[in-house]
Amino acid sequence: MKAALFLAASILSAASVHTDFEGASLGQIEKVSETNFRLHVAGQADQHNRNRQASWYYFRIDDAAAGELILDIVNLPGEYNFKPNKGAITGDTPPVISYDNGRTWTHMTTFEYNAAEPRLRLRVKPAEARFWIAHTPPYTNENLMRLRNEIAKDSAFHEETIGKSVDGRDLLLWTIAAGSPRKTVWLMFRQHSWESGSSWVGEGAIRALLSPAGRALRESITWKIFPLADPDGVASGGVRFNRKGYDLNRNWDTAAELDMPEITAQRRAIAKWIKGGHTVDLFFSLHNTEPSEYLEGIAKFQPLGEKFFAALKQLTTFAPTRPLIATEATTTPGMPGRMTVIQGLFKDFQIPGFLMEQRIAFNDRLGHLPTVEDRHAFGSQLVRAIDEAIK
Ligand SMILES: [Zn+2]
Repeated sequence: MKAALFLAASILSAASVHTDFEGASLGQIEKVSETNFRLHVAGQADQHNRNRQASWYYFRIDDAAAGELILDIVNLPGEYNFKPNKGAITGDTPPVISYDNGRTWTHMTTFEYNAAEPRLRLRVKPAEARFWIAHTPPYTNENLMRLRNEIAKDSAFHEETIGKSVDGRDLLLWTIAAGSPRKTVWLMFRQHSWESGSSWVGEGAIRALLSPAGRALRESITWKIFPLADPDGVASGGVRFNRKGYDLNRNWDTAAELDMPEITAQRRAIAKWIKGGHTVDLFFSLHNTEPSEYLEGIAKFQPLGEKFFAALKQLTTFAPTRPLIATEATTTPGMPGRMTVIQGLFKDFQIPGFLMEQRIAFNDRLGHLPTVEDRHAFGSQLVRAIDEAIK
């Protein structure tokens, strides 16, 4: 019956493209024919209109006909740390498709990447007239609030609002602790809005810490968590920069209140914790890249870094594409506004910080492209690896 209705509807209508919901993003939408659209990735550049990154798209198709629909994802080239590139979207990063408004996502298998243009051509034979497509499984503020509502009554969970984003959204700090924990681990997720995998891992970590099996972890360690560092970017379908154009993982040496209130609030919360007589035994920020996976840490804490790296390899599906990286004092010597969170926290508070990049492309330890379930599982493994590293 559903299929018959779909067929009947197909004859009467033409496919249309929509971005009127949280986290959605596209630039120009060109209708080449009834069955072919050229969809420009909006991309985002920084405060000086440099470092354009085009690695987020998320849209809905309505009224698709039963035959093949060709969606060309274009306008991909960009720049990273001031070096030009062909863009992060390639044949190694097939999109995900959902027919149930984002409850479940599946990687697409029918696509061709043309490096010369460059262009990612998606061939969709839709199972239903309405579907959603995204670069990676989206995780929005709405997802986070759903998680918060589930865990809010847990006695080991505590929430503070530490400030407001540029657009006035609450900046959240969550604490998970029970009994009288002795050590502190500070976790940070989603400094860059396209990197939704970071949030799915965060959710997995938080659920693990609050689970019956996580009891020893929350009793021995206070877990401070920035669950979503750039709520505006996530809401608006941003890529890498906050609403004023600032990279929230580059401006830790600037931290100007009006331009990047997110960084100011986060740093202030950490400063308050340290002034209160506490330590931060390990700080960890999780990011996504397309094909590479690695751990980067402050050189002064190399023994801890090696231990953490080994624990990640042993206890998680971490599949490093390079050895542990000793971070420099800045990403771009001589330029202001180029310091990552771990560089900034080391300069200000001598905190042992680590930053991990987790790939969205094929992971050979998983044997497939990472799914939401894999991210959840990694979150649960991650908190065990951190516990092992600081023992
Ligand atoms: Zn990132």
